[in-house]
Amino acid sequence: RQKRVVMGNWKMNGSLSSNSELIAGIAQRMSQIGGATDVAVCVPFPYLSQAADLLKDSGVSWGAQDVSARESGAYTGEVSAPMLAEFGCRWVLVGHSERRSLHGESDAEVADKAAAALSKGITPVVCVGESLEERDAGQVQAVIERQLKPVLALGDDAVARLVIAYEPVWAIGTGRSATPEQAQEVHAFVRGLLPAGAKGIPLLYGGSVKPDNAQVLFGMQDIDGALVGGASLVSKDFMAIAEHG
Ligand code: 13P
Repeated sequence: RQKRVVMGNWKMNGSLSSNSELIAGIAQRMSQIGGATDVAVCVPFPYLSQAADLLKDSGVSWGAQDVSARESGAYTGEVSAPMLAEFGCRWVLVGHSERRSLHGESDAEVADKAAAALSKGITPVVCVGESLEERDAGQVQAVIERQLKPVLALGDDAVARLVIAYEPVWAIGTGRSATPEQAQEVHAFVRGLLPAGAKGIPLLYGGSVKPDNAQVLFGMQDIDGALVGGASLVSKDFMAIAEHG
């Protein structure tokens, strides 16, 4: 089993001053936990250079929360993979449920974004997950399979370089995490969809991950780490989650 990955998604939070405090706390605690866990933060675009400066040599990597599927041109407001690469981004979230629901991102567009990131050596963290309505209707596997279909169609070599995050929509920001068993069941299903050469890619769970539930989630066979929202804004909590790895 490879290194555990604990990734923060700051969403649209932060300021120059609060970020520097948060990052200092993360970097300081990182030096204590050593390299057992891959720790990363995904920050709003304007703060990429701040994160790159403050995290240099800390052992913590950084990424963005979205990327355009296109390389350059007349796409007002978009940010390209080559731009992110210039800031030393190692990761980019694609298809977060908030992008899918608030910005109408389709499964096909999410796959295009993943391909754009890969073409610049940035690891896409492809987010998937069902709504409560879909879960109640017994559609979890069908939804996940539909969301991943165009991503899997990028080819086995591409899939082997991805991270996939399972984030049930009903668990995001609600304080109601999936149970370890619920998460494990979906993770095992996702693992089963992967081609032979990509079975070992990290599968992260996201949705109300906190210091007090991280350990038991990480104890599940197919849960390789976490994508953390709210708790990633408090360095003590975020790094407590990382330490459980
Ligand atoms: P919370 O940890 O705040 O539930 O957010 C999860 C998430 O959406 C991470 O991408």
